[in-house]
Amino acid sequence: MKNRWPTAYQVIETLEHAGFEAYVVGGAVRDFIRSVDANDVDITTNATPMDVKRLFSRTFDVGIEHGTVIVVLQDTIEVTTFRSEATYSDFRRPDQVTFVSSLREDLERRDFTMNAMALTKEDELIDYFDGKSDIANYLIRAVGEPNERFGEDALRMLRAVRFSAQLGYTLHQETMEAIQALHHLIGHVSIERVKVEIEKIWASKHVAKGLELFVSSKLADNFSGDWSRSISKWKEFTNFGLTANGWAFFALIQQPPNINTLLNHYKCSNAEKNHVKQIMLAVEKLEKGYWSNDDFYQFSEEVLITASCYSAIINEVSSYSAEKIIQLKKAIPISSSRQIVVNGNDLMEWSGQKRGPWLKELIHKLTSAIVNREIQNDRLQIKEWFLREYKH
Ligand code: ATP
Ligand code: MG
Repeated sequence: MKNRWPTAYQVIETLEHAGFEAYVVGGAVRDFIRSVDANDVDITTNATPMDVKRLFSRTFDVGIEHGTVIVVLQDTIEVTTFRSEATYSDFRRPDQVTFVSSLREDLERRDFTMNAMALTKEDELIDYFDGKSDIANYLIRAVGEPNERFGEDALRMLRAVRFSAQLGYTLHQETMEAIQALHHLIGHVSIERVKVEIEKIWASKHVAKGLELFVSSKLADNFSGDWSRSISKWKEFTNFGLTANGWAFFALIQQPPNINTLLNHYKCSNAEKNHVKQIMLAVEKLEKGYWSNDDFYQFSEEVLITASCYSAIINEVSSYSAEKIIQLKKAIPISSSRQIVVNGNDLMEWSGQKRGPWLKELIHKLTSAIVNREIQNDRLQIKEWFLREYKH
């Protein structure tokens, strides 16, 4: 571990030196057994948060009520005191956190066998629930009795689906049956947390497999939209580094009668909703044949490239390549009405009229005339155009 995770090694060494136990746990151990790089390395210990704060000079209290302290060395690392999650009365979060004295109890409260292993600083694996063999068999299995575990925290059911999408693993039969029986409990989990998991599924390597499982586990029954629709199309999905594009792709597949109703169900932000609507509008225009100069002017390069790509996947219509879009967008004489060499004051002066709705309409017309190269962005030409337009 010393070379692989030097910060974790150093934290464990310090804790052990002070007489405590400490291990790497969770996702990092899972990813180590899978021989892939870990996202972040978490440590569990029998030292209390106070002990941890005493032993390290730079720490942050982030979730101290859950027993977590962030230790800052060359990297930052989360150190959490052994705990169990005592009683659950609302299917979502423990009513109280109880610190426990043994590693085993800490590992027992974790969700899946692959996530419930610990590693000593000498790289010795502690694996009470056969996580390693489940990983070898590509299986996601709840720790202990699945019905009980999902009854404690319903989010775990969706995490199972998300891990399946990320890793390509299958759910162990009893774990799957428990989800199918208890799927409705997901309704107790806040939609914000559900949204995060859905977005993680969309960003996964095995997204279609994850969505099939979302449907076959019946979890999808609890949410808006027909999730079984066009699942195979997601194999070609890319979000271009923007989470909101998942919602755009989803909306294009769903074709809902009311887009706001659908996106509000998932508590999408206004920025996300606007982005989705832009993509949908650009796709709709493309379906009618081609994009006009006004379309190339109106939509951002990002929206055009995304819409063209999604339209090709979902509607299987031929569309523009990214290079073509960049080229055509560049050929538009202006990229904003602010670049027009005359402004509202000029138009008011030429017309002798006060500001009013007519002005906005006229600027719109003028912009389109320039975008479509009917006239050049030149003061004299614009004035001639204006005098012609203004007559009728
Ligand atoms: P990732 O690589 O996506 O971060 P991870 O396994 O580290 O995966 P986290 O959500 O960061 O996932 O959680 C860290 C660990 O905490 C898990 O490996 C698991 O042991 C435990 N855990 C997280 N959420 C739950 C939960 N809802 N119920 C039980 N254990 C959980
Ligand atoms: Mg993690």
